[in-house]
Parts: sequence; C-alpha cells; structure tokens
Amino acid sequence: MSRPTKATIDLQALHHNFQLAQSLAPQSKTIAMVKANAYGHGAIEVAEALSDIAPAFGVACIEEALNLRAAGISNPILLLEGTFSSDEVAIAAQHRFWLMVENHPQKDAILTANISHPVDVWLGVDTGMHRLGFQPEDIADVYKALKASRNVSEQIVVSSHFACADDLEKQTTDKQIECFDACMPSDPNALSSLANSAAILAWPQAQRDWQRPGYMLYGGSPFRVAQKNADQLQAVMSFESAVISVRSIAAGESVGYTGNWTAQRESTIATITVGYGDGYPRQAPNGTPVLVNGQRCPLVGRVSMDMITVDVTDLPEARIGAAVELWGQTLSVDEVAQACGTIGYELLTRMPARVPRIYS
Ligand SMILES: *Cc1c(COP(=O)(O)O)cnc(C)c1O
Repeated sequence: MSRPTKATIDLQALHHNFQLAQSLAPQSKTIAMVKANAYGHGAIEVAEALSDIAPAFGVACIEEALNLRAAGISNPILLLEGTFSSDEVAIAAQHRFWLMVENHPQKDAILTANISHPVDVWLGVDTGMHRLGFQPEDIADVYKALKASRNVSEQIVVSSHFACADDLEKQTTDKQIECFDACMPSDPNALSSLANSAAILAWPQAQRDWQRPGYMLYGGSPFRVAQKNADQLQAVMSFESAVISVRSIAAGESVGYTGNWTAQRESTIATITVGYGDGYPRQAPNGTPVLVNGQRCPLVGRVSMDMITVDVTDLPEARIGAAVELWGQTLSVDEVAQACGTIGYELLTRMPARVPRIYS
C-alpha cells in the first residue's frame, strides 16, 4: 500500500566498513563522520548503530550535534568547523562537543568563555587545502595559548585535511603530510589527525592518532579507479523503486520532457516511480545505467520530478512491478555519479526525506 521507492540501509555493511577503516590503521582511533544526515543515510540511526564501536562522531555544526544528543547519543561529537558564534562554546562544554579551532576568533571565544569544565579542542592547520585552519607558522603560538587556558582539556589534537588524497598519483598529499609534521608542536602530549577516507584507504603514511572516515563508511569509493582496499567496501544504501508502466513505441517517437531521446527502433519503455524529487539526479544523461530485474538498462529521456524512463527493449520480462535498483550493492553510486558528472557524495547527501529509509 505504498509507493515502492525507498532507500534500504544495511547496517551490517556499515559495521563492515567501519571495521575495515579500523583494521587499516589499528594504531589509530576512528571518529565516524555523520555530518549531513550521515551522508544521507540518517544520522541518528547511523550513530546508534556505531555508538558501541566508534569512540566519537563528526558533524558540521552544533545543530547536527544537538540532534544526536536529543536522540540519546552520548559519544563525544566533534564540530568540524568549530563554532560559528561565541555562545556555542558553553553549549559545547555542557554537551561534550569537541571543538575544531580554525581561526583566531574561534580560539579567542574559547579562551574567554565562562565555562565550568574544559572543552576538548582540535587545532586545524592549513597545510595546503587553503579553506580553513591556521597558517603553519602560527601553530606554535596558538597551541601554547590553548595549552595555557583552563578552558581547554589536557590533550589537544592537531589536525589537517587533504585536498587531493583521492588522486593516487598527485604529490600534494605527501607535501601536506610534510608540512603538517614540520609544524607539529614538540609537546609529547599533543595528538594528531590527518586521514579522511581516501587517505585511510590509500595513504598509510597519513596514519596518526585519529582518523576521520566519512564516505567509506557508507561503502562509496573516493577513487575513480579500482583500489584494493576500496574494493572491499560494501554499499550501505540501496536506492530502490519499481516499474509502474510499460509501453511499446515506434521508431522515431521521443520520450519524456523536451523529447531529448528518440527511439531508433521499435522500443519498449518502462516508467519507474522515482525522480529528481527523490534525489535521482536530473542531469543523468541518456544511457545512465539503471538495474531492472537485476539487468542494466539505459535511462532514456529526461528525469522528471517523480518518474524516469528506461529502455527495456532487450528485457522482455520487465513488467509492471519489476524491481529497480537506482544504485546500491550491484550498481555503485559512484558509477551512477560518474555518468552524471558528479560524485557519489553529492548523490547520497542530497537524498531528500521523501525517500523512506528502511534499516535492516
Ligand atoms: C567530511 C570530512 C571528513 C571525511 O571525509 P570523507 O572523504 O568523507 O572520508 C574528514 N575530515 C573532515 C575535516 C571533514 O570535513
């Protein structure tokens, strides 16, 4: 009695991917990134599923962290962009949110806050991404100032973020590591953190005290090419729907809005109840693969808000009710994203609430 469009979330695959991240760097602690609604998978459900094995979670802002607290998640939560206003410091201290400190105003807000217990601080260094973080030459002074403050917990994590770790050839990652190591404070208590998913999978020299996997937890690969560790990941989300109409059209007839696809032969067109209103990308071109009854069929015609059309001429058993996978364990979101000129991160993160998440 419901529209068949849904996202099935495989929590066992999520566990598997977390354990893979952990096993690749057994000396590191693993903070699970659940920002942006856990890359579209449902932040609360994902955090609940990982709360016993992940020592902490990472989110983009205090609202995301408070949502997890309201749902009963008690693990520490790192705010990846730190605070946006100084009143957030006291809330963070109260809720055990860890604060990334990326600039002088954020640092000063912590130093001058009137709080009764200290906050855990992650100190961001700009080693080449040039988006956030202190300049490497400022780290010694900022570290010293934080260290001297009673508002700051004993161990400070110095951290940086890679710009190009998904490119297995580029020198940038090694350069960033070198820059990072050169500005690491001499304090033996200082901890460090570098690796995102791509670095965990492919850059063992980036292993430090903490690693920060996001996309790989959900089974996506950051690489455009096969990679031995990434090949062991399991897709967590299966985005599923069904055929709701099948028709034959004559050669020369066009399909859908703007008629941007014209049949070269007599063709069978299956209509599926999923569209850009469900997060299926409107920019998907003709030929984007869609699985119907487990067989790859080409998308034909423009993606509509609530429907897509595929050519099932070569799949005579594709009737009304046939099962469809838009992406998932058989057809990777990375392949669909590549066909659409984007990355799987964007497709997953943009999945709207209209698509029910079914946890299994
Ligand atoms: C999102 C994010 C990550 C995770 O990146 P993935 O590529 O998804 O693994 C790690 N570190 C920081 C600072 C981030 O913002």
